Amino acid sequence: MATRREFLGGAAAGVIAASQLFPANAQTAAQSGLDFPIEDYHVHLNSMTIEQVVAASKQTGIKYGVMEHVGTKENQYPNMLSDDKELLAWIDKLKGQGVYIGGQAEWIDWVPCFSKDVFCQLDYILTDSWTVRDANGKRIKAFSGGYDPGDDAEAFMKWYVDWIVEILEKTPLDIWAHPLWVTRRFNPQLEKLWTEERMRRVVTTLKNTNTAVEIDSSIKQPTMPFIKMAKAEGVKFSFGGSSQGARVNPIDWSIATAKEAGLTRNDMFHPAPPGRKPIQIRKLRT
Ligand SMILES: [Zn+2]
Repeated sequence: MATRREFLGGAAAGVIAASQLFPANAQTAAQSGLDFPIEDYHVHLNSMTIEQVVAASKQTGIKYGVMEHVGTKENQYPNMLSDDKELLAWIDKLKGQGVYIGGQAEWIDWVPCFSKDVFCQLDYILTDSWTVRDANGKRIKAFSGGYDPGDDAEAFMKWYVDWIVEILEKTPLDIWAHPLWVTRRFNPQLEKLWTEERMRRVVTTLKNTNTAVEIDSSIKQPTMPFIKMAKAEGVKFSFGGSSQGARVNPIDWSIATAKEAGLTRNDMFHPAPPGRKPIQIRKLRT
């Protein structure tokens, strides 16, 4: 956890005064200039309380989606919801607070941890592709310092795009987060590595699986060519600030990028209604 937080540039977690919950000069919903309500679906509480997030929402006019990690205990996070009981406690904690209640799924083996009836009580489920297979097929956090992606960027991309497609096809997701991220070693080449063909493959999979893509202010991705390609295919978008517990991060980059891409109300993600949740209706690749 410390590694991820460090990588994202977040401050050390601690007790936060209400006035410091959101930077005073950051973009609020009222100033956005967009024709839809502003929502940020990527808030982790960690050391923040739900009351603090609600206070930040009053200040910003932004509606937040608050998530805990969900999946097997094999995934190493301080809080990992792994069964119906733990999930219901999370849902009860956030119910009636005016936030969306979400989960950040880890890896691809989480579906059997929960009953559908309980899981579909979440408003949405998001995942990223930062946990990958190592050479032995074991899960490893590709953002951790101990991860070695090798020196061959093309070889990395070949299996990495396959992995992203596998995640999208095998798990019933609402949102793919931290899109286009590549491991630190290859980050300087990111735009070159994401060729038109690779972007097309992911966009087609997002479309076919009805998964939205996050416009992520924390890593400032995806690129404009990717957004335009996804928009043309009718893929939906969500905003995410990847708040990790120190404060509620601004989403200025997401708002500016949406404006530049000409996104309107119809392009934006909304949680599916009851009975239409991905876990209830998706046909998953086995
Ligand atoms: Zn997250």
